[in-house]
Amino acid sequence: MDCELCNFDSPRIIKQYPYWILSAAAQTPLGWMHAMLKRHAEFFDELTQEELAELKEVVGEARAALKKTFKPDWFNLTQLGNTCRHLHVNLIPRYKEKREFAEKEFVDESFGGGVSSEEIDEEMVGKVRGEVKG
Ligand SMILES: [Zn+2]
Repeated sequence: MDCELCNFDSPRIIKQYPYWILSAAAQTPLGWMHAMLKRHAEFFDELTQEELAELKEVVGEARAALKKTFKPDWFNLTQLGNTCRHLHVNLIPRYKEKREFAEKEFVDESFGGGVSSEEIDEEMVGKVRGEVKG
């Protein structure tokens, strides 16, 4: 299998766990981290109970370290897999105000962004709900 995260080895690695690797991702936003599963799986619902429990520990430790170092105002946690399907979650610190680190300025321009309640098409929501619910 040609997967860039199977047998991942990189200077970006922060810590190895039994089931997960914690690694630094691209640093926009500052402090962005990946938790990568050590075996090849592609979606969240494929995790075993042990892997899921350890992911909670990995994210908790990473969040505690980020709170101490860069003091984010919020965090996003996502499993996307758009560019690489090997199961990894993104822990993305979010900042209300700019941060400075290593002589560089980091501005989180989309802090607090998302879909506002005025933008929601309730009729379409109802139709989708009905379709999914069966
Ligand atoms: Zn893989």
